[in-house]
Amino acid sequence: MSSRSERTRHLRERTAKALSPAIGGAQQFGHRFGALFMFLVGLIVVPALYESGNMNIETVNMFGRYLAFAMVAVGLDLVWGYTGILSLCQSLFFALGGYAMGMYLALHGPLDEGVPRALYVVSSSVKGITLPWFWEPFRTLPVTIGLGLLIPGALAFVVGYFGFVSRVRGVYFAILTQAITLAAWMVFCLNNMRLCGTNGLTNFVMLAGFDLTQANTKLGLYLITLVTLAAVYALCRYIVNSRLGRVLIAIRDNESRLRFSGYKPHYFKIFAFTLSGVLAGLAGMLYAPQANIITPAYMTVERSILVVIWVAVGGRGTLSGAILGALLVNLMYNFLTTSKPEWWPFVQGGLFIGVVLLLPNGLMSLWHGWTAKRREPLPENGQKSPLADGSAERPIDAHDIDRRFSRIALLQREKSVALADSELLRVENIQVDFDGFKALDIDTFSVGYYELRVIIGPNGAGKTTLCDVISGKTRVATGRVMFGTTDITTLAEVDIARLGVGRKFQTPTVFDSLTVYENMKLALPGWQGVWRNLAGRETAAECERITALLKRVRLDDQMQIPVKYLSHGQRQWLEISMLILASPILLLVDEPAAGLTDQETVLTAELLLELQSEHSIIVIEHDMEFVRLLNSRVAVLNEGKIMADGSMDEVQTDPKVIEAYLGR
Ligand code: ADP
Ligand code: MG
Repeated sequence: MSSRSERTRHLRERTAKALSPAIGGAQQFGHRFGALFMFLVGLIVVPALYESGNMNIETVNMFGRYLAFAMVAVGLDLVWGYTGILSLCQSLFFALGGYAMGMYLALHGPLDEGVPRALYVVSSSVKGITLPWFWEPFRTLPVTIGLGLLIPGALAFVVGYFGFVSRVRGVYFAILTQAITLAAWMVFCLNNMRLCGTNGLTNFVMLAGFDLTQANTKLGLYLITLVTLAAVYALCRYIVNSRLGRVLIAIRDNESRLRFSGYKPHYFKIFAFTLSGVLAGLAGMLYAPQANIITPAYMTVERSILVVIWVAVGGRGTLSGAILGALLVNLMYNFLTTSKPEWWPFVQGGLFIGVVLLLPNGLMSLWHGWTAKRREPLPENGQKSPLADGSAERPIDAHDIDRRFSRIALLQREKSVALADSELLRVENIQVDFDGFKALDIDTFSVGYYELRVIIGPNGAGKTTLCDVISGKTRVATGRVMFGTTDITTLAEVDIARLGVGRKFQTPTVFDSLTVYENMKLALPGWQGVWRNLAGRETAAECERITALLKRVRLDDQMQIPVKYLSHGQRQWLEISMLILASPILLLVDEPAAGLTDQETVLTAELLLELQSEHSIIVIEHDMEFVRLLNSRVAVLNEGKIMADGSMDEVQTDPKVIEAYLGR
């Protein structure tokens, strides 16, 4: 890659690739091919073996049931693998679908005076039993199917709504879902619920006029399950390839960062969780007629944990891995429980631990590694800093900075004439208490339109806390924060972000599993709604803007590289670029030069100076050389108080400041 034109061509190719929604060419090839292969085996090989007499109908039926399990696993992969929400409700959703279908089947099975015989058997009083009201809708198949999807979906929606809005996360959400599953299990076990108690519903005979005991019906159900699973897979694949899929991964990587980019992560989580509930319900409806039974045993917490194991073994966040894991673990179960049933718990536990330790990304990672090697080499060394690459190097001297600064000062003056004396941000009498420790106590602090404001101060002075207050992360004990004419003191992070306050964190917070380009796409303004993310595509103009910005921070060669491979400086720049892309009115930049080399520092200063013509900026910094480069008004913060405010020269000569900070 020596000549300029070659470089440009290479870049263009990469950009073209970046425009496709793929996670990465090789990996997507692996996903598609793996899933297609499994589907064709199911569609052709299994029926062929059966027709030729090499497989009995019971085995086909077993596959049909396991495919239903795989559907639950795909749904869980969406919420757990992609979004990072561990749910132990999946067995409940599955059983709710199963019960819906089971009630329909029971009503079309052996009856005594219109009451399913199973219900009769478990009831204490034989005479005078009537069907409870909630059995009524399940007399017709279309209503049953509708309810079989709606009930688990609605339950998932409600659980998700209350859980995610109140920010129940991680293990707490798992415990919450576990408790719900347990409670439902107890309710379904009750005989007076009139759902046949622990015996469950069984003795199914007819489904929509087909005899369930017939081999052909079983084969038909197997094929319907297979095709439904393929459709479910295609739907989920579409979702994870859409922008929404990127948002789900971003939630998994760093949910709170998304809020500062104007997203409401709980909407996306509710969407994914509800969909997983619907898919599990669908699976349950397909399972019940094939297993010829549905009991409360299917909605235990253990069953939910099993689904987690399937996904973990197959590979989180791959969809096809969920299918593979569900089939494989169940086949092993089937094999062992017919020969050595007492071994099964140990094999299952060992499998789970083994996979987690040896193949943290599950069995699918073996397949992906293999296909990736065949298709294309992995991106070249992503650790490389763009500045290490001679062709990208552009010497910058202080003179250059001076020139830029005077140009910007001119622009700024022009603009501030129009906005004379109006302040963009004003902080008044704020105090922040951390358990009695006064982290912040500021009388007034303000930033004008198109002003670059620097805050310096020793470690622990409260600089980051001030940023937290302005961006809504930390609440003040007293005082108020005005943004333009809006009081933002008590607004949520996301609402402040949407008003136009962008933020860069002290440690770069970007979405590690996504590429540089995907990170940038998430930062585009106007893309924060769920439906828009599901169906929309970025415009060419938006993509061009991203490319131009990345070029400016010299990340254009790294566009396709997952962010986790970037150097510290590159991550800083990526986060700043994401900020700029969102076009906020006020930029909060917390220690942008921390951990940068001298040259990178100069480049960052240059970038911030350029930005000043478009935005108001608060830069928090520790590095005095860097602050000197910015040549702006400086506030010195010490022990939560502003001790000096003025030009760099003024504060530098202030004896208090020298004592507190500069003299050290
Ligand atoms: P700076 O960014 O200037 O280095 P910070 O704003 O991060 O300082 O912290 C100011 C002070 O507040 C420090 O003493 C820190 O320990 C304390 N602090 C910050 N966040 C919290 C918190 N969430 N709980 C308790 N103390 C905190
Ligand atoms: Mg800090």
